[in-house]
Amino acid sequence: MKKIYDLTVIGNGMVGSYSFLEIRKRYRDININFVHDKKRPGSASAAAGAMLNVFGEIDYDKQMDNYQQRKIDIGILSQKKWKNFFKENDEYIKCNTAKNTIIYKSKNATKLEKNCFKEIKKWNDKYNFKNHNLSKQILKYKKKIKNINSPLDEFIGISGEGAVDTNLFFSIFDKNLKNNKKTTISLDKILTITKYKNYYKILGNKNYYYSKKIIVCAGSDSSKILSNITKKIMPIFYGVGTAFVAHPKQNEFEALPKNTVLRSPNRGSTCGLHVVPRNDKTYYIGAGSFISKSKIKSFGRVETIKYLTNSLQKELIGPAPYLEFIPVVGYRPISFDCKPLIGMINNHPDIFFISGTKRDGLTYSPVISDAIINWLDNNKNYELFKNWEPERKPLSYGDTPFAIESYIENKIAGLIEHNNENKKNYKKIYAELKFEANQFHKNIIKKLKLKKDFGIHPEILNIY
Ligand SMILES: Cc1cc2nc3c(=O)[nH]c(=O)nc-3n(C[C@H](O)[C@H](O)[C@H](O)COP(=O)(O)OP(=O)(O)OC[C@H]3O[C@@H](n4cnc5c(N)ncnc54)[C@H](O)[C@@H]3O)c2cc1C
Repeated sequence: MKKIYDLTVIGNGMVGSYSFLEIRKRYRDININFVHDKKRPGSASAAAGAMLNVFGEIDYDKQMDNYQQRKIDIGILSQKKWKNFFKENDEYIKCNTAKNTIIYKSKNATKLEKNCFKEIKKWNDKYNFKNHNLSKQILKYKKKIKNINSPLDEFIGISGEGAVDTNLFFSIFDKNLKNNKKTTISLDKILTITKYKNYYKILGNKNYYYSKKIIVCAGSDSSKILSNITKKIMPIFYGVGTAFVAHPKQNEFEALPKNTVLRSPNRGSTCGLHVVPRNDKTYYIGAGSFISKSKIKSFGRVETIKYLTNSLQKELIGPAPYLEFIPVVGYRPISFDCKPLIGMINNHPDIFFISGTKRDGLTYSPVISDAIINWLDNNKNYELFKNWEPERKPLSYGDTPFAIESYIENKIAGLIEHNNENKKNYKKIYAELKFEANQFHKNIIKKLKLKKDFGIHPEILNIY
């Protein structure tokens, strides 16, 4: 006789794994089918630093909507929940490898980076996440970097903005995960889902499964899995993130503040330098990003590794000729409008969908897990994620002229940062980018039948 599961979870990134733990605590008796690949190919969570961001990821964003405020509210709540998680789950405490964050600014920063820095300072001051100890660490570090002629000139200390070693997290999680009467672990890749009587048939590469309820949290692949169920989810792209884990041979990182993330603000096209300590004395160094319509078959971008190693040595640690490293790559799930897609599928309220979490999904995982529990309890969407439902219409990024200006600013910052252009050619580049952005806008608006003055997010604009 075929088995019909009460719930199937597709995807074992942080969203799927964290939620699985919480669902199991609350619903001990339901039959859960957890479908995934143990190696987590392409998982954003496995490739992430991973910082529990609230202020560090704030962009200079002139949009007149309340996106920044929402990010901060959800971020602060998420941080609290992560702290509780570590308190209540002893085994995982060693995954919490950093407790604070220091943001730095370089004298040579582009206009965009300076603006991001100011914005972070503004919000951090408003919420007053300062801490005396951090100021002491900054002073000590400032003295040390004089020896390497670092161009850094300003710092912001953010208390409580920590980090999680996701690889350690997953190794503990996987070790504890066992097949039992109530949980089935299906190592498979899901291809499609179809409605079948009053439940769903889930077709995988190896097998098929039946389930009454389904959570789809398969990163950028999530909407493909639902292609037989709905065509209304906007395109989701692969935000290819390249980073590396540094294995120090000498004392290259000795001068850095302890238990603390040291990072730049965003530097255009979402690049920036993040140094995240891990508890095995390695350091996560991230991360670049480029957006692609499909997966890539490589270990990342040489240019990104070059950029990260150069910045690391020039700005933070000085020459490190013997540093060894392992590259990591993962796909940030990025929706067409760069906002999250979280909630039930309209005509299929027994399917809950999570994607589009971009640079914040790791941080948000505990709150997303609350949204899932709320759905299981009440069959409802979660108030905190209102207007981010999966089948919503794309949200405009300001209007067209605003989006074009942002695109130019972002692009110029990226070009200067990567030494592909210098500031002297600014006028010429500005004109070329404006022309290109106008063309891109016209084409996409026509192709996707959007409103005439729709503003396309600067990170998405040139992938069409
Ligand atoms: C380099 C990098 C750095 C980042 N840094 C941070 C950070 O510091 N802080 C932060 O909050 N966020 C960060 N992010 C973003 C964050 O990682 C993501 O938003 C979040 O991890 C998404 O989690 P997820 O579980 O939804 O997706 P994923 O982690 O991508 O997990 C999806 C899982 O589903 C599996 N899967 C895919 N297709 C199928 C299928 N058909 N069947 C079965 N399984 C499938 C995949 O193998 C994968 O294991 C970063 C991302 C990257 C790439």
